Amino acid sequence: MPTEKTPPDAGSLHHERGHDAYSHRHDHDPVEEGAALRVRALEELMVAKGLVDPEALDSVVEYYERQTGPRNGAAVVARAWTDPTFKEWLLEDGTAAIHSMGFKGYQGEHMRVVENTAGVHNVIVCTLCSCYPWTVLGLPPAWYKGSAYRSRVVREPRSVLREFGLELAPDIRVQVWDSTAELRYMVLPQRPAGTGKLSAAELALLVTRDGMIGTALL
Ligand code: FE
Repeated sequence: MPTEKTPPDAGSLHHERGHDAYSHRHDHDPVEEGAALRVRALEELMVAKGLVDPEALDSVVEYYERQTGPRNGAAVVARAWTDPTFKEWLLEDGTAAIHSMGFKGYQGEHMRVVENTAGVHNVIVCTLCSCYPWTVLGLPPAWYKGSAYRSRVVREPRSVLREFGLELAPDIRVQVWDSTAELRYMVLPQRPAGTGKLSAAELALLVTRDGMIGTALL
């Protein structure tokens, strides 16, 4: 369900952090630093006890860092822009349409694609934690996981988008989609004007990760 409001107290804690909340928090977030230390300690312990193979771990990390990523989502978007039948399927059953392009796996089991139009702009978030469509967008950026974005984008989406450099006209409706463990969202940006002659491969190069999160137009 689209949400434009959250309980009155959500997000107020980070209000006063202001415009620098996104750009700096990944360097200094004590929660994230603590978690990283605990993960490293656990990994060392499990390797030392022979419970996990460090090479297997590396290959998992390698997969999510290099083999999946926003290029997958960009290919999906470009195909939707050039193939009306695929686009209809994608909006109707995002999971099946995305799987048909070979993009399937953990955190991509149930996908819904929401389309930007002349009158509606969509943004995705996970207010609870950091649910994100890994199979099409790769790993989430640090700000997506940060509490400033998660709490503020539902309360004041226009202000948050402005901080990303996206100024939306007042008559454009902003829809914020709250991802869950069961359902992940991806934004289908509008195809830019003047791109009629471009191939799907060329169009894919225009699409960015932030465009598919909704914090940018493309
Ligand atoms: Fe989450």
